[in-house]
Amino acid sequence: MTAATTMAARSFRGSSTAGRSQKELKELVSHVGAELELAPAEVILEWAVATFGERFCITSSMADAVLAHLASRVAPGVDVVFLDTGYHFPETIGTRDAVEATLPVNLVTITPEQTVVEQDAAYGKDLFARDPDLCCALRKVAPLARSLDGYDAWATGLRRQETRNRVIAPVVGWDENKQKVKVSPLARWSDEDVERYIAEHGVLVNPLQHDGYPSIGCRPCTRRVAPGEDKRSGRWAGSTKTECGIHV
Ligand code: SF4
Repeated sequence: MTAATTMAARSFRGSSTAGRSQKELKELVSHVGAELELAPAEVILEWAVATFGERFCITSSMADAVLAHLASRVAPGVDVVFLDTGYHFPETIGTRDAVEATLPVNLVTITPEQTVVEQDAAYGKDLFARDPDLCCALRKVAPLARSLDGYDAWATGLRRQETRNRVIAPVVGWDENKQKVKVSPLARWSDEDVERYIAEHGVLVNPLQHDGYPSIGCRPCTRRVAPGEDKRSGRWAGSTKTECGIHV
């Protein structure tokens, strides 16, 4: 990323795709998706910021701050959306707070309509143990969909190497469920690419990653992983569930 391109990206922060129809957004994506497939993550983010302005956000699970760090370099003040399900590990909330305190981003924390106590009263205690799909729908999928109302495009930290289900994640694609442009700047990154970026830039990492949790979700649905095990095998362990539903 050059200083010139950074300034170019910043100069577009006031612009916006507001007013473009979903059909127009979809067509836009079909043209640029292939062009950006091999572009560096910074260039993909620069395109997104320049194209969507303030109608673009990134999302972060706070497993690490790689995407937030990259985006803050391209567009200081960018919205970073964090979904607080009410079931997170304290370390994840601590990472969120550290990101907000140390990076030039606008941290936006969103929550489900019901607190955990209210959900327990409505659906019975520990819904995650009886119907994790419904629990994820209530605590992840619905609040994220609501929070994206004010945006035309959102970026995720999805990487194809993480699970087989993510192999087809395009760098820039159309999210049919949310009717938004979905940007995955890290889609082609390997584990080594992530480690290198973290080391080079001193990026914040959730401390649980050094304690046997290479993939971090809600506390009741995440267990430690033994050395050599699949990194996502600690998510919804013992069930056939592999994704929360946000990325389908
Ligand atoms: S990951 Fe578990 S606790 Fe979190 S929303 Fe999904 S089912 Fe509920």
